[in-house]
Amino acid sequence: MQIPEAFCTRMQSLLGSEAPAFFAALQQPPFHALRRNPLKYTQSQLEAGLPFPLRAAPFSPLSFYVPDEFQAGRCPLHHAGVFYMQEPSAAAAVTVLDPQPGERVLDLCAAPGGKSTQIAGALSGQGLLWSNEVVRSRVPALLSNLERWGTRNAVISSCRPEILCQALEGFFDRVLVDAPCSGEGMFRRSEQAVSDWSPAHVSACAVRQNAILDSAAQALRPGGVLVYSTCTFSQEENEGVIESFLKTHPAFSLEPCGLSAGHPALDGLARRIYPMDGGEGHFVARMRREGEAERLPAAPAPAPSAAAQAMLASLYRETLAGTPAQIGEKLYLLPPDLPSLHGLGVVRAGLLLGEEKPARGGRKKGDSRFVPAHAAFMAVKPDMLQACLSLSAEDPRVLAFLHGEELEAPETLHGFCGISVEGAVLGFGKCSGGRFKNHYPKGLRML
Ligand code: SAM
Repeated sequence: MQIPEAFCTRMQSLLGSEAPAFFAALQQPPFHALRRNPLKYTQSQLEAGLPFPLRAAPFSPLSFYVPDEFQAGRCPLHHAGVFYMQEPSAAAAVTVLDPQPGERVLDLCAAPGGKSTQIAGALSGQGLLWSNEVVRSRVPALLSNLERWGTRNAVISSCRPEILCQALEGFFDRVLVDAPCSGEGMFRRSEQAVSDWSPAHVSACAVRQNAILDSAAQALRPGGVLVYSTCTFSQEENEGVIESFLKTHPAFSLEPCGLSAGHPALDGLARRIYPMDGGEGHFVARMRREGEAERLPAAPAPAPSAAAQAMLASLYRETLAGTPAQIGEKLYLLPPDLPSLHGLGVVRAGLLLGEEKPARGGRKKGDSRFVPAHAAFMAVKPDMLQACLSLSAEDPRVLAFLHGEELEAPETLHGFCGISVEGAVLGFGKCSGGRFKNHYPKGLRML
């Protein structure tokens, strides 16, 4: 790795006597870590399910270092959304945000969704997660990661921050800005990050970060919490952005971020994490908007749809919170606390249950049938499903399913049916006559 000289000079003056340890760490391989999904697995289930011991990372109680050779894509538990692969210090931002069940939380720069999945875990299905990603081509990965995680109560949008935050002024209890940055904390993982780096790029990032924070402030209610994070070390993009934000937003003040890992910044209120702290590199600061406010009301819920209600009953043994709704051909379970979604680039609201399709030949014109969605299965545990083919990790049908093959199944299973491995749902299929026809989405299949 050819590190730019100007970057070295900056780090030398930033770190002083700690610079040699930093430069030595830059020559080491990057950390690998996972974060457990509390919606799906307990700590002891995860320990029992993985072939290596878990070593805790200091940035979140759910993060653990994994061996370099671990290939998550080959692990069925990863396909089941039991964990998310995430550079360990990246978990610090949501630890500092500290979302609570029932709150409204905005993740303004969300793709590919590492921090959104962590927020969804903390909300535990209660309240609202709004995950926004302005770059449209990055939204499918965000959607797929939130589906695999089993998120029921999220809105996913692709909207410019200034438009979104103006429309949702004062709506959120917590807002996370995990800002696009010069990515100095990615140097060990990405040659591209190294070659893209320049002092001009750092300055351009700082200008953009200030603009995003301006918007974010608008979406936050008085008394709410705003967290700013980057994966870069530059003072211009970190302390510089916060200081300039605080100058122009007197209603905001820094508060202790409650994280002991890493190095102190901004009078000890914020944190900087370097490779010698056990993570690739992050900066996190937490601010509060002064005042108190009544919660802004949610928009009136749409009329519940009978078709969505029927689909819910056909899939699940228990009632899930929310409004069953039909929008076009698609059936959803909408979270209880939604604002108006109009004009905000929303690509998903709540849980996609399934889709109405024309009936296959031979029936009357206008007849339709409902086909469930992959997301509908991923959002629950196997025992909540009306029907599930429950497999152990050793069963060869687990890998066969992930490869997209048709499986053998008990004759007693009939119709749409989940499939699970060691207590976590992998997807679904359609059973008939002792066969399980595979519905694992093609783009997710193991090659
Ligand atoms: N929070 C994500 C996660 O944990 O997976 C990572 C977010 S990444 C650091 C920053 C994101 O900001 C990128 O997905 C990028 O596309 C997006 N972005 C780029 N320009 C932006 C802008 N002007 N406003 C808001 N977001 C922007």
